[in-house]
Amino acid sequence: MSTQRRTSSEAYRCPKCDGVLAYADGSWGCTDCRYVPGHGAD
Ligand SMILES: [Zn+2]
Repeated sequence: MSTQRRTSSEAYRCPKCDGVLAYADGSWGCTDCRYVPGHGAD
């Protein structure tokens, strides 16, 4: 039996602080350090 579970709402992890990335204002961002993945200069 596989113990692997895949939720439909898998949370994204911040590569910088290992926090949780949340979708807000049309883009993803870390709720902890405000890190924005895959985004250029703002
Ligand atoms: Zn972070």
